[in-house]
Amino acid sequence: MTVSQWGIRVPARKGEEMRQALIREGALDASLRVLRDGESLILPVLENRESAEWCEFEAHPDREPLPRHELVGGIAIMQEKDPEGAEKLLASRPSLHTVVFARGEVSGEYRTREFTVLAGMPTTRTEITEHGHRFAVDFAGAYFSARLSTERQRILAKVQRGETILDMFAGVGPFAITLAKAASLVVASDLNPKAIGLMLENVAQNRIKNVLPMLADARRLGGILPWKFDRIVMNLPLAGTEFLPEAFLLCRPGGTIHFYSLVSQEGEHAARIRELGGEILAERVVRSYSPGQWHAVYDIEVKNE
Ligand code: SAM
Repeated sequence: MTVSQWGIRVPARKGEEMRQALIREGALDASLRVLRDGESLILPVLENRESAEWCEFEAHPDREPLPRHELVGGIAIMQEKDPEGAEKLLASRPSLHTVVFARGEVSGEYRTREFTVLAGMPTTRTEITEHGHRFAVDFAGAYFSARLSTERQRILAKVQRGETILDMFAGVGPFAITLAKAASLVVASDLNPKAIGLMLENVAQNRIKNVLPMLADARRLGGILPWKFDRIVMNLPLAGTEFLPEAFLLCRPGGTIHFYSLVSQEGEHAARIRELGGEILAERVVRSYSPGQWHAVYDIEVKNE
């Protein structure tokens, strides 16, 4: 039985020391086996943290096998509707308060999913720790993906101190709050009122002073915002190039746009980006989506006035 979970990679000789430290912190996921990968060991942890990677672990042979699931904060998400398995899962980890079954895929304008609660508290709301920030999320009300944490750190590493940033599809604010560390101002906009409500909570609980949450349709931002930004994040992968003209309008010459898109071939949006006056600095695969389709990110430099 394999389980997807966050893991911390350490050199094999440091494995036992790290395992003991994680046990002391209550962070080790003791239901899963430690993975060996060449000279490294990967230790399963209950929550995402600095330098964690998403891995497939084997369930521990001494423990009763648990049904396949994904852990996000205090919620376990199962792909099968198995109430008995859900009860076992709930009993297996003190950190879990709810086990849900995902009834469908992420869908609709707000990019949310429908869930049935199988065990525990009747809620889809939980708290997630990511690189020192705590995010309140509600999976049924607003989009959140813990798997984008590496991407958030990658972009943070590119931000120059004092930049102004616009997050056009900000959700509950994970990119905005992460990037606020280096920026002078992050305008974080979303169309979903529930996402903006959670973002306000997240800004307050992380004591962030330079994120401006905004309930707005990204199509209208050019008419509302009086500034040109140094950097723009566009994380609405299914929208294709529809919102790119608005982003080019709002980005200063020499500024950067990080454009996420679902693609089925490399360079799919290259011609459109050049036509709008952009130079592609990099195109990377973020994650696979379906056979022959993947989420890509284009880092674009805006060249035109
Ligand atoms: N960036 C966030 C994150 O990483 O968690 C959320 C990304 S989610 C894939 C896309 C977000 O875009 C959703 O929260 C959705 O409500 C929002 N959205 C969809 N259409 C929009 C529009 N026209 N204007 C503004 N936001 C929109």
